[in-house]
Amino acid sequence: MEHTNEMSIEFDSRSCNEGFARVAVAAFLTQLNPTLEEVADVKTAVSEAITNAIIHGYENQVHKIRIECKIAGHELYLTVIDKGKGIEDVRQAMEPLFTTRPEWNRSGMGFAFMEAFMDEVVVVSEPGCGTEVHMKKTVGNRNHEFMD
Ligand code: ATP
Ligand code: MG
Repeated sequence: MEHTNEMSIEFDSRSCNEGFARVAVAAFLTQLNPTLEEVADVKTAVSEAITNAIIHGYENQVHKIRIECKIAGHELYLTVIDKGKGIEDVRQAMEPLFTTRPEWNRSGMGFAFMEAFMDEVVVVSEPGCGTEVHMKKTVGNRNHEFMD
């Protein structure tokens, strides 16, 4: 069976925890021997999902955000979960430049960045129940033929 490794963290939806959470994910990722670019990509995607949970999901009230991480071979699976207000229309929410908060100077690019930096992004959301952002990326899978 393929080797897997999992970790999860749960923390208050305070913006001061965002840096902690992205560094925790990046530290977990080091076992895959990622490139600096891969680490930066994952950190950006995690930041965008956490910011969304804080400001949209919980509307800046303090509740819990959970991050579940799984490594299987060279695949990183990452899920960011909030139990906040949820998304009415996920397809529309994921369109580049769509935002429900122009008055907060949001640019509507968070999901577009997640999709650009990760290989797969799937959003599961139910209004009134919360949102799960499932992301997947192949990491550290460089071709070692020249080193062998
Ligand atoms: P930006 O990320 O560029 O600052 P944004 O957050 O509005 O702007 P996206 O991250 O792409 O843009 O999100 C698009 C929209 O999806 C948000 O405006 C919000 O309505 C909704 N949304 C995203 N994440 C959540 C969430 N966790 N809970 C509830 N609504 C969300
Ligand atoms: Mg956003």
